[in-house]
Amino acid sequence: MNEAIPFRQFVVKTAARCDLACDHCYVYELRDQSWREQPRVIADKTVGALGVWLRAHAERAGLSVLDVVLHGGEPLLAGPDRIDTIVRDLRAATAGVAELRFTVQTNGVRLDERFAEVFLAHRIRVGVSLDGDALAHDRHRRHADGRGSHAEVVRAIALLRRPRYRPLYGGLLCTIDLANDPVATYRELLGHAPPMIDLLLPHATWEFPPPGARPGETPYADWLIAVFDRWYGAPVRETRVRILEDLVDLVLGRPVPSEMLGLAPPGSVVIETDGTFEREDSLKATFDGAAATGLDVFRHDPATVLAAPAYAPANAALGASCRRCPVLDICGGGLRAHRYRPDTGFANPSVYCADLRALIDHVGARVRADVRALVAESGSRR
Ligand code: SF4
Repeated sequence: MNEAIPFRQFVVKTAARCDLACDHCYVYELRDQSWREQPRVIADKTVGALGVWLRAHAERAGLSVLDVVLHGGEPLLAGPDRIDTIVRDLRAATAGVAELRFTVQTNGVRLDERFAEVFLAHRIRVGVSLDGDALAHDRHRRHADGRGSHAEVVRAIALLRRPRYRPLYGGLLCTIDLANDPVATYRELLGHAPPMIDLLLPHATWEFPPPGARPGETPYADWLIAVFDRWYGAPVRETRVRILEDLVDLVLGRPVPSEMLGLAPPGSVVIETDGTFEREDSLKATFDGAAATGLDVFRHDPATVLAAPAYAPANAALGASCRRCPVLDICGGGLRAHRYRPDTGFANPSVYCADLRALIDHVGARVRADVRALVAESGSRR
């Protein structure tokens, strides 16, 4: 059996609950409800077994650096002391073999100086979820009692922008909502001076299509194209926008390890609070148990996990229309979850197919025109 390429990124669930009840959350509000069975917070013995596993994996694969994303649920529900211990234990377990680079992805609600000091001590970079201004953000990212979280999140971002913590500020993650103007949303995010912006398509499948999708229209492409034109056409690069940078790289023929675009394997794996390995979190938008693998850090060594069918490349399951698509190298069929239909599984084009194609064609035309202009300019100087 062929092995997957060695994992380099480990999405470690430190807490399996959340203190918000966002209506677009793929973990808690969609099809897969397996989180209800998970321990609330990762236990010491699970962290210990994970450390042993990571060490064996790095040794076996000859990897000197591993990326660890502290994730959830809301990872900060574990508390600053617990996160401090988790990071110390994992670093101690892998010492002398691999450096662990940590990031944390948080909703920001609990982020305060106590957390920030722990993150500073361990050089943990912080990504915060923010959907735009108060109206945009609080439309979806609310507490269980209906209160919006925008004010708390903005306070957390202001903390990260203080000179002491600024090196920790990793960026902002925004889920696209067609109700929000694209360029106004981009400018609102830019106002928080993020080093990186992640723009996510809302999770959707052929069974549960994207909000606002209509046959013959490409509203998500239109939204992202408006941001692309503003970002790409700016006289100076204002910030990094991951999906747009990835598209430019892919158009130029550079491989991008991504779950969202291209054909290069992302090389990442999810570890739940009970120590089970899972496939990408976005599969939780498809059906109950879609992300499960039956593997865990206690009983399954790296060779077994890497050879498991669950980690076969996502593009092995591409349908015929994707395999003959002229932009397959760039699109890759999109996110696997977005290709799901209950009757045909994942062997379908993305539910965002028309949007992806329109976006790729637009970015491709613009980037290739620039390349041609550069080549012509350098030719005329000779
Ligand atoms: S999802 Fe659509 S655009 Fe993407 S590879 Fe498949 S057919 Fe092509």
